[in-house]
Amino acid sequence: MKTARSTLVTVMLISAGTASADPEQRADVPRPAKFVTAADWGSRPDSIPDERRHTPKHVTLHHAGVLWTADRDPVQFIRNMQSWGKKRPELEEPPRNTYWPDLPYHFLIAPDGRIFEGRPLEYEPESNTKYELAGHLGVELMGNFEQQRPSPAQVESAVRLVAWLLAKHDLPLDAITTHARVAKGQTSCPGRDFARYFDAEKPQFAEWVGAVLKGKPPAIELGPPLDGGPTQLITETRKPDAVR
Ligand SMILES: [Zn+2]
Repeated sequence: MKTARSTLVTVMLISAGTASADPEQRADVPRPAKFVTAADWGSRPDSIPDERRHTPKHVTLHHAGVLWTADRDPVQFIRNMQSWGKKRPELEEPPRNTYWPDLPYHFLIAPDGRIFEGRPLEYEPESNTKYELAGHLGVELMGNFEQQRPSPAQVESAVRLVAWLLAKHDLPLDAITTHARVAKGQTSCPGRDFARYFDAEKPQFAEWVGAVLKGKPPAIELGPPLDGGPTQLITETRKPDAVR
């Protein structure tokens, strides 16, 4: 039953191309608002080989690690990332010169809360760090949360997106993880000011997701700036004046 259904879903996804066919969506967890499909933002991936297919088991949070300034355009940022991935063999030195046929992440969330659809869910992600990629759904928030703070809209979209993904793939709350946790000692991603909500002692992000899964509002409360951490919200970051 399960297998037959998965096959059907696969067939539908193939026939739908980049459109987001979603026959398994759980009634009580709607697809989040502000969702921008791959077709809508003009995604132009190359095809991903069949051996990269996987079964989602974790939802893994990332930040871009690039300081976001108010003059940036999220759509341009994503298009650039996608075309850079396809040109890595020409542009990068080993070991970073592997070819990425599509975006490394399955979703990318802009500071205004828009959720951009990236790599199709049925393929494993890409990474410059070493961990078992199969099974991970990558959700990236634009910005660098070592230097700036995520916006409330961005965090709310992340919470609602992760709840939708857990419901869709029938995954438990502890399927939520972060890049630093799965690639130990290799990265500080998703950055201090966002990573704090995934603390094992007080996993606030998972609590907010849990509320959405129960059909309740997530009651997200972002903490104050951390000691020695960033103070400025991503939406407040302006490009520094050019030094002459
Ligand atoms: Zn990351």
